[in-house]
Amino acid sequence: MTPLLTTRDLRKNYGGLRAVDGVDFAIMPGEIRAVIGPNGAGKTTFVSLICGRVPPTSGQIVLDGNDITDLPAHDRVRRGIAYTFQITSVFSALSAYDNVALPVQRTLTGRSKGRLHAGVMSALERTGLADRADTTAGALSYGHQRLLEVAMGLALKPRLLILDEPTQGLSDGEIESFMQLAREIARDATVLLIEHNMQVVMELADRITVMNAGKILAEGTPEQIRANAEVQRAYLGTE
Ligand code: ATP
Repeated sequence: MTPLLTTRDLRKNYGGLRAVDGVDFAIMPGEIRAVIGPNGAGKTTFVSLICGRVPPTSGQIVLDGNDITDLPAHDRVRRGIAYTFQITSVFSALSAYDNVALPVQRTLTGRSKGRLHAGVMSALERTGLADRADTTAGALSYGHQRLLEVAMGLALKPRLLILDEPTQGLSDGEIESFMQLAREIARDATVLLIEHNMQVVMELADRITVMNAGKILAEGTPEQIRANAEVQRAYLGTE
């Protein structure tokens, strides 16, 4: 099987700081991949490079065999890379429905009204928010706002959905529902998530990439990562 996405010697420097320092990475279609690592390891910068929010200093990003390194973010969305970020991207004055519709209208131009509506409602239904479609996003609970972010990504019909700390601030019950949702999403898409909750990582991920100081420290199944002494020292032991 060929990877959906690969990066080759990907680098991002901020002045003298090597935030992402030569990352070779591959993710297979249908996989749920967790990226873990201590604060400042470069996780957010790495996924920001993949979705085109920041340009790399050097290296290559390949999607389905095509070099997308220099493509602007909206073109990557059109090619199937969608993301939701830590810093909440929800417009609190707009309804849940409009929050989901807006990114679709902005990036997937030329959709008929009927198709747009169907796509928005399907994303709201999958995230359990359909009955809150008309609720102002700011009036939703924190957990529902996080789910709304996932719905915003899902409505873009991604092949690769990138989630930055999706369970942060969620209750145990909400985390459980999120994991079910992620598994369901992975039936027809690939999921790449940055996650600090190790229970979620170990239960949900097919494979784990451990980053430290801008580099990949280790990669493997949850069992392999749990058993990796270097990871224990660098990260798990300090949790
Ligand atoms: P966290 O788990 O805390 O979110 P992270 O692993 O996602 O951390 P990044 O946010 O990618 O790490 O940061 C990696 C390094 O790059 C950090 O030292 C950070 O201060 C630095 N950095 C990130 N963005 C910028 C920027 N725009 N300008 C300068 N330095 C930056």
